[in-house]
Amino acid sequence: MAQIHELSVNLSNQIAAGEVIERPASVVKELLENAIDAKSTRIRIDFIDAGLKQIIVQDNGTGIPSDQIDLAFTRHATSKISNEHDLFNVGTLGFRGEALASIAAVSHVEILTNSGGASGTRAEFAAGVKKAQEEAAATKGTQITVKDLFYNTPARLKYLRSPRTEIMKIVDIVNRIALGYPDIALTLMNEGRVLLRTAGNGNLQQTVSSVYGRSIAEKMLPFKSSDNDFEVTGLISKPGLTRSTRNFISILLNGRYINNFQLATAVMDGYGTNLAAKHYPIAVIKIKVDPLLVDVNVHPTKKEVRLSKETELSRLITNAISSALLAKDVQADAIGNL
Ligand code: ADP
Ligand code: MG
Repeated sequence: MAQIHELSVNLSNQIAAGEVIERPASVVKELLENAIDAKSTRIRIDFIDAGLKQIIVQDNGTGIPSDQIDLAFTRHATSKISNEHDLFNVGTLGFRGEALASIAAVSHVEILTNSGGASGTRAEFAAGVKKAQEEAAATKGTQITVKDLFYNTPARLKYLRSPRTEIMKIVDIVNRIALGYPDIALTLMNEGRVLLRTAGNGNLQQTVSSVYGRSIAEKMLPFKSSDNDFEVTGLISKPGLTRSTRNFISILLNGRYINNFQLATAVMDGYGTNLAAKHYPIAVIKIKVDPLLVDVNVHPTKKEVRLSKETELSRLITNAISSALLAKDVQADAIGNL
Protein backbone atom coordinates (compact mmCIF):
# COMPACT_ATOMS: atom_id res chain seq x y z
CA MET A 1 0.00 0.00 0.00
CA ALA A 2 1.12 3.58 -0.67
CA GLN A 3 2.36 5.75 2.19
CA ILE A 4 -0.16 7.99 3.86
CA HIS A 5 0.45 11.59 2.89
CA GLU A 6 -1.38 14.89 3.19
CA LEU A 7 -3.19 16.06 0.06
CA SER A 8 -2.01 19.26 -1.58
CA VAL A 9 -3.99 22.41 -0.88
CA ASN A 10 -5.26 22.38 -4.46
CA LEU A 11 -6.47 18.81 -4.32
CA SER A 12 -8.22 19.26 -0.99
CA ASN A 13 -9.90 22.42 -2.30
CA GLN A 14 -11.12 20.46 -5.30
CA ILE A 15 -12.58 17.81 -3.02
CA ALA A 16 -14.34 20.51 -0.98
CA ALA A 17 -15.62 22.07 -4.20
CA GLY A 18 -17.33 18.76 -4.96
CA GLU A 19 -19.53 19.31 -1.91
CA VAL A 20 -20.21 23.02 -2.11
CA ILE A 21 -20.18 23.71 -5.84
CA GLU A 22 -22.47 21.23 -7.53
CA ARG A 23 -23.57 23.32 -10.49
CA PRO A 24 -23.61 26.90 -11.85
CA ALA A 25 -26.50 27.78 -9.50
CA SER A 26 -24.27 26.94 -6.50
CA VAL A 27 -21.72 29.52 -7.69
CA VAL A 28 -24.45 32.12 -8.07
CA LYS A 29 -25.82 31.33 -4.60
CA GLU A 30 -22.44 31.56 -2.87
CA LEU A 31 -21.40 34.80 -4.62
CA LEU A 32 -24.79 36.37 -4.02
CA GLU A 33 -24.67 35.44 -0.33
CA ASN A 34 -21.19 36.95 -0.06
CA ALA A 35 -22.46 40.17 -1.63
CA ILE A 36 -25.32 40.27 0.88
CA ASP A 37 -23.00 39.60 3.82
CA ALA A 38 -20.87 42.51 2.54
CA LYS A 39 -23.90 44.79 3.12
CA SER A 40 -24.49 45.54 -0.55
CA THR A 41 -27.61 47.45 -1.54
CA ARG A 42 -27.23 46.80 -5.27
CA ILE A 43 -26.19 43.48 -6.80
CA ARG A 44 -26.03 42.48 -10.44
CA ILE A 45 -25.63 38.93 -11.70
CA ASP A 46 -24.85 38.21 -15.33
CA PHE A 47 -24.25 34.79 -16.84
CA ILE A 48 -23.45 33.25 -20.23
CA ASP A 49 -24.07 29.70 -21.45
CA ALA A 50 -26.09 28.64 -18.38
CA GLY A 51 -23.23 29.89 -16.22
CA LEU A 52 -20.65 27.48 -17.65
CA LYS A 53 -18.88 30.01 -19.79
CA GLN A 54 -19.17 32.94 -17.41
CA ILE A 55 -20.86 34.16 -14.24
CA ILE A 56 -20.32 37.73 -13.03
CA VAL A 57 -21.57 38.98 -9.67
CA GLN A 58 -21.05 42.66 -9.03
CA ASP A 59 -21.88 44.38 -5.73
CA ASN A 60 -21.48 47.71 -4.00
CA GLY A 61 -20.58 46.24 -0.62
CA THR A 62 -17.58 46.59 1.68
CA GLY A 63 -15.01 45.26 -0.78
CA ILE A 64 -11.90 43.29 0.16
CA PRO A 65 -8.61 45.05 1.08
CA SER A 66 -5.80 44.10 -1.32
CA ASP A 67 -3.74 42.41 1.39
CA GLN A 68 -6.65 40.07 2.22
CA ILE A 69 -7.40 38.72 -1.23
CA ASP A 70 -5.19 35.65 -0.78
CA LEU A 71 -6.94 34.87 2.49
CA ALA A 72 -10.38 35.30 0.94
CA PHE A 73 -9.46 32.51 -1.49
CA THR A 74 -8.00 30.28 1.24
CA ARG A 75 -10.20 27.49 2.53
CA HIS A 76 -11.48 27.89 6.10
CA ALA A 77 -10.52 31.57 6.09
CA THR A 78 -13.43 33.89 6.88
CA SER A 79 -14.14 37.32 8.33
CA LYS A 80 -17.53 36.16 9.64
CA ILE A 81 -16.83 34.01 12.71
CA SER A 82 -13.81 33.66 14.96
CA ASN A 83 -14.55 31.34 17.88
CA GLU A 84 -16.72 28.39 18.89
CA HIS A 85 -19.30 30.65 20.44
CA ASP A 86 -19.75 32.41 17.08
CA LEU A 87 -20.37 29.08 15.37
CA PHE A 88 -23.58 28.71 17.37
CA ASN A 89 -24.54 32.33 16.90
CA VAL A 90 -24.13 32.86 13.16
CA GLY A 91 -25.60 36.17 11.97
CA THR A 92 -24.32 36.01 8.38
CA LEU A 93 -25.17 33.77 5.44
CA GLY A 94 -21.58 32.54 5.14
CA PHE A 95 -19.22 31.38 7.88
CA ARG A 96 -17.42 28.29 6.55
CA GLY A 97 -14.84 30.17 4.51
CA GLU A 98 -15.10 27.63 1.72
CA ALA A 99 -16.92 29.18 -1.21
CA LEU A 100 -14.24 31.29 -2.90
CA ALA A 101 -11.53 28.62 -2.48
CA SER A 102 -13.91 25.97 -3.83
CA ILE A 103 -15.09 28.03 -6.80
CA ALA A 104 -11.51 29.01 -7.68
CA ALA A 105 -10.46 25.33 -7.57
CA VAL A 106 -12.81 24.42 -10.42
CA SER A 107 -12.74 27.51 -12.67
CA HIS A 108 -10.89 30.63 -13.78
CA VAL A 109 -11.70 33.48 -11.41
CA GLU A 110 -11.06 37.19 -11.70
CA ILE A 111 -11.77 39.56 -8.84
CA LEU A 112 -11.94 43.33 -8.98
CA THR A 113 -12.52 44.89 -5.60
CA ASN A 114 -12.23 48.17 -3.74
CA SER A 115 -12.70 48.45 0.02
CA GLY A 116 -12.88 52.23 -0.02
CA GLY A 117 -9.46 53.43 -1.18
CA ALA A 118 -8.59 55.69 -4.12
CA SER A 119 -8.05 52.62 -6.26
CA GLY A 120 -8.81 48.93 -6.03
CA THR A 121 -7.25 45.58 -6.78
CA ARG A 122 -7.56 43.10 -9.59
CA ALA A 123 -6.47 39.47 -9.19
CA GLU A 124 -6.72 36.32 -11.25
CA PHE A 125 -6.84 32.67 -10.22
CA ALA A 126 -6.78 29.49 -12.32
CA ALA A 127 -7.58 26.12 -10.77
CA GLY A 128 -7.01 27.68 -7.36
CA VAL A 129 -3.58 29.20 -8.11
CA LYS A 130 -3.13 32.97 -8.18
CA LYS A 131 -1.81 34.10 -11.54
CA ALA A 132 -1.72 37.87 -11.12
CA GLN A 133 -2.57 40.72 -8.78
CA GLU A 134 -2.32 44.42 -9.51
CA GLU A 135 -3.72 47.81 -8.58
CA ALA A 136 -6.73 48.70 -10.72
CA ALA A 137 -9.41 51.34 -11.01
CA ALA A 138 -12.62 50.18 -9.32
CA THR A 139 -15.60 51.66 -7.54
CA LYS A 140 -16.31 50.53 -3.98
CA GLY A 141 -17.52 46.96 -3.90
CA THR A 142 -16.57 43.69 -5.49
CA GLN A 143 -16.95 42.11 -8.89
CA ILE A 144 -16.18 38.43 -9.23
CA THR A 145 -16.02 36.79 -12.66
CA VAL A 146 -16.10 32.99 -12.82
CA LYS A 147 -15.16 31.53 -16.20
CA ASP A 148 -15.00 28.01 -17.60
CA LEU A 149 -16.67 26.39 -14.59
CA PHE A 150 -15.63 22.72 -14.11
CA TYR A 151 -13.13 22.92 -17.01
CA ASN A 152 -10.74 20.81 -14.94
CA THR A 153 -13.36 18.42 -13.51
CA PRO A 154 -14.95 16.78 -16.58
CA ALA A 155 -16.94 14.30 -14.49
CA ARG A 156 -18.83 17.20 -12.92
CA LEU A 157 -19.54 18.72 -16.32
CA LYS A 158 -21.08 15.48 -17.51
CA TYR A 159 -23.35 15.28 -14.51
CA LEU A 160 -25.02 18.63 -15.30
CA ARG A 161 -28.53 18.74 -16.73
CA SER A 162 -29.66 20.58 -19.86
CA PRO A 163 -28.80 24.31 -20.12
CA ARG A 164 -32.51 25.06 -19.68
CA THR A 165 -32.63 23.18 -16.39
CA GLU A 166 -29.40 24.73 -15.14
CA ILE A 167 -30.76 28.21 -15.96
CA MET A 168 -33.98 27.39 -14.12
CA LYS A 169 -31.97 26.43 -11.06
CA ILE A 170 -30.11 29.75 -11.19
CA VAL A 171 -33.37 31.67 -11.52
CA ASP A 172 -34.96 29.70 -8.69
CA ILE A 173 -32.22 30.42 -6.16
CA VAL A 174 -31.94 34.10 -7.12
CA ASN A 175 -35.74 34.49 -6.91
CA ARG A 176 -35.85 33.04 -3.42
CA ILE A 177 -32.94 35.11 -2.15
CA ALA A 178 -34.55 38.22 -3.71
CA LEU A 179 -37.73 37.47 -1.75
CA GLY A 180 -35.66 37.41 1.43
CA TYR A 181 -34.04 40.79 0.74
CA PRO A 182 -36.55 43.33 -0.60
CA ASP A 183 -34.10 46.05 0.52
CA ILE A 184 -31.54 44.99 -2.05
CA ALA A 185 -31.88 46.00 -5.71
CA LEU A 186 -31.10 42.78 -7.54
CA THR A 187 -30.69 42.27 -11.26
CA LEU A 188 -30.27 38.88 -12.92
CA MET A 189 -29.29 38.79 -16.59
CA ASN A 190 -28.90 35.88 -18.99
CA GLU A 191 -26.62 36.92 -21.87
CA GLY A 192 -27.82 40.51 -21.57
CA ARG A 193 -31.50 39.66 -21.17
CA VAL A 194 -33.12 40.64 -17.85
CA LEU A 195 -34.59 37.64 -16.00
CA LEU A 196 -35.25 39.45 -12.74
CA ARG A 197 -35.04 43.01 -11.54
CA THR A 198 -36.14 44.08 -8.08
CA ALA A 199 -36.52 47.68 -6.95
CA GLY A 200 -34.77 47.30 -3.62
CA ASN A 201 -37.21 49.64 -1.90
CA GLY A 202 -38.00 47.26 0.97
CA ASN A 203 -41.52 46.46 -0.25
CA LEU A 204 -42.11 42.69 -0.15
CA GLN A 205 -45.28 42.83 -2.24
CA GLN A 206 -43.39 44.65 -5.01
CA THR A 207 -40.60 42.08 -4.80
CA VAL A 208 -43.18 39.30 -5.19
CA SER A 209 -44.49 41.21 -8.18
CA SER A 210 -41.00 41.28 -9.75
CA VAL A 211 -40.52 37.58 -9.09
CA TYR A 212 -43.96 36.08 -9.82
CA GLY A 213 -45.72 38.88 -11.69
CA ARG A 214 -48.22 41.55 -10.72
CA SER A 215 -51.40 39.52 -10.94
CA ILE A 216 -50.04 37.08 -8.35
CA ALA A 217 -48.65 39.82 -6.09
CA GLU A 218 -52.10 41.44 -6.00
CA LYS A 219 -53.61 38.23 -4.65
CA MET A 220 -51.17 37.88 -1.80
CA LEU A 221 -52.16 38.46 1.77
CA PRO A 222 -49.90 39.69 4.57
CA PHE A 223 -49.69 37.83 7.85
CA LYS A 224 -47.76 38.36 11.05
CA SER A 225 -47.39 36.65 14.39
CA SER A 226 -44.88 36.10 17.15
CA ASP A 227 -44.20 34.30 20.39
CA ASN A 228 -41.30 34.45 22.86
CA ASP A 229 -38.88 32.83 20.43
CA PHE A 230 -40.05 33.53 16.89
CA GLU A 231 -41.39 36.31 14.75
CA VAL A 232 -43.07 35.21 11.52
CA THR A 233 -44.20 37.58 8.78
CA GLY A 234 -44.75 37.36 5.09
CA LEU A 235 -47.20 37.00 2.26
CA ILE A 236 -49.44 34.07 1.37
CA SER A 237 -51.65 33.49 -1.62
CA LYS A 238 -55.39 33.77 -1.10
CA PRO A 239 -57.32 30.49 -1.35
CA GLY A 240 -57.99 29.78 -5.00
CA LEU A 241 -54.52 30.84 -6.14
CA THR A 242 -52.48 27.66 -6.01
CA ARG A 243 -49.70 25.80 -7.81
CA SER A 244 -49.15 22.12 -8.48
CA THR A 245 -45.88 21.89 -6.50
CA ARG A 246 -44.54 23.01 -3.12
CA ASN A 247 -41.80 24.97 -4.89
CA PHE A 248 -43.64 28.24 -4.52
CA ILE A 249 -43.40 28.11 -0.74
CA SER A 250 -40.22 30.00 0.21
CA ILE A 251 -39.05 29.83 3.78
CA LEU A 252 -36.41 32.32 4.91
CA LEU A 253 -34.94 31.86 8.35
CA ASN A 254 -33.02 34.97 9.45
CA GLY A 255 -32.68 35.79 5.74
CA ARG A 256 -31.39 32.34 4.81
CA TYR A 257 -33.45 30.38 2.29
CA ILE A 258 -33.95 26.89 3.72
CA ASN A 259 -35.58 23.62 2.67
CA ASN A 260 -37.79 22.43 5.47
CA PHE A 261 -40.56 19.96 4.87
CA GLN A 262 -42.16 20.33 8.28
CA LEU A 263 -42.42 24.12 8.04
CA ALA A 264 -43.79 23.95 4.48
CA THR A 265 -46.41 21.50 5.75
CA ALA A 266 -47.22 23.94 8.56
CA VAL A 267 -47.93 26.58 5.91
CA MET A 268 -50.33 24.26 4.11
CA ASP A 269 -52.00 23.23 7.38
CA GLY A 270 -52.86 26.91 7.87
CA TYR A 271 -55.16 26.68 4.84
CA GLY A 272 -57.07 23.74 6.30
CA THR A 273 -59.92 22.73 4.02
CA ASN A 274 -59.27 25.77 1.79
CA LEU A 275 -56.61 23.77 -0.01
CA ALA A 276 -57.65 20.94 -2.30
CA ALA A 277 -55.52 17.82 -2.60
CA LYS A 278 -52.35 18.32 -4.70
CA HIS A 279 -52.79 22.08 -4.64
CA TYR A 280 -50.08 24.17 -3.02
CA PRO A 281 -50.09 27.84 -2.06
CA ILE A 282 -47.58 30.52 -3.03
CA ALA A 283 -45.98 31.85 0.13
CA VAL A 284 -43.05 33.86 1.41
CA ILE A 285 -42.47 33.01 5.05
CA LYS A 286 -39.92 35.10 6.93
CA ILE A 287 -38.86 33.81 10.30
CA LYS A 288 -36.80 35.83 12.77
CA VAL A 289 -35.22 33.86 15.56
CA ASP A 290 -32.35 34.15 17.98
CA PRO A 291 -29.42 32.53 16.07
CA LEU A 292 -28.70 30.52 19.22
CA LEU A 293 -31.80 28.43 18.46
CA VAL A 294 -30.51 27.48 15.01
CA ASP A 295 -27.66 25.19 14.02
CA VAL A 296 -26.69 26.06 10.47
CA ASN A 297 -23.58 23.90 10.59
CA VAL A 298 -25.37 20.80 9.34
CA HIS A 299 -24.64 20.68 5.65
CA PRO A 300 -21.95 22.34 3.46
CA THR A 301 -24.53 24.17 1.37
CA LYS A 302 -26.42 25.28 4.51
CA LYS A 303 -29.78 24.64 2.86
CA GLU A 304 -30.84 22.49 5.75
CA VAL A 305 -30.62 23.72 9.31
CA ARG A 306 -31.35 22.18 12.69
CA LEU A 307 -33.90 24.17 14.60
CA SER A 308 -34.80 24.00 18.28
CA LYS A 309 -38.53 24.29 18.95
CA GLU A 310 -39.51 23.38 15.39
CA THR A 311 -42.89 22.07 16.54
CA GLU A 312 -43.69 25.34 18.33
CA LEU A 313 -42.66 27.28 15.24
CA SER A 314 -44.83 25.08 13.01
CA ARG A 315 -47.83 25.75 15.22
CA LEU A 316 -47.16 29.51 15.19
CA ILE A 317 -47.01 29.51 11.36
CA THR A 318 -50.18 27.41 10.96
CA ASN A 319 -52.13 29.63 13.38
CA ALA A 320 -50.88 32.88 11.85
CA ILE A 321 -51.91 31.77 8.37
CA SER A 322 -55.29 30.42 9.37
CA SER A 323 -56.15 33.68 11.20
CA ALA A 324 -55.06 35.74 8.20
CA LEU A 325 -57.30 33.62 5.98
CA LEU A 326 -60.23 33.92 8.38
CA ALA A 327 -60.44 37.67 7.93
CA LYS A 328 -63.87 38.62 6.54
CA ASP A 329 -62.78 40.10 3.21
CA VAL A 330 -60.65 37.07 2.41
CA GLN A 331 -63.59 34.77 3.00
CA ALA A 332 -65.81 36.89 0.75
CA ASP A 333 -63.06 36.89 -1.88
CA ALA A 334 -62.70 33.12 -1.71
CA ILE A 335 -66.41 32.65 -2.24
CA GLY A 336 -66.27 35.09 -5.13
CA ASN A 337 -63.57 32.91 -6.66
CA LEU A 338 -65.67 29.76 -6.62
P1 ADP B 1 -17.48 32.85 3.92
O1 ADP B 1 -18.53 33.60 3.17
O2 ADP B 1 -18.00 31.59 4.51
O3 ADP B 1 -16.72 33.70 4.88
P2 ADP B 1 -16.14 32.77 1.33
O4 ADP B 1 -15.10 31.84 0.78
O5 ADP B 1 -17.43 32.83 0.62
O6 ADP B 1 -16.37 32.34 2.84
O7 ADP B 1 -15.52 34.22 1.43
C1 ADP B 1 -14.30 34.41 2.16
C2 ADP B 1 -14.20 35.83 2.70
O8 ADP B 1 -14.01 36.73 1.60
C3 ADP B 1 -15.43 36.31 3.41
O9 ADP B 1 -15.42 35.96 4.79
C4 ADP B 1 -15.35 37.83 3.20
O10 ADP B 1 -14.53 38.44 4.17
C5 ADP B 1 -14.65 37.97 1.86
N1 ADP B 1 -15.62 38.21 0.75
C6 ADP B 1 -16.08 37.30 -0.14
N2 ADP B 1 -16.92 37.86 -1.03
C7 ADP B 1 -17.00 39.18 -0.69
C8 ADP B 1 -17.72 40.30 -1.23
N3 ADP B 1 -18.52 40.19 -2.29
N4 ADP B 1 -17.54 41.50 -0.62
C9 ADP B 1 -16.72 41.64 0.45
N5 ADP B 1 -16.02 40.61 1.00
C10 ADP B 1 -16.15 39.40 0.44
MG1 MG C 1 -19.42 32.89 1.42
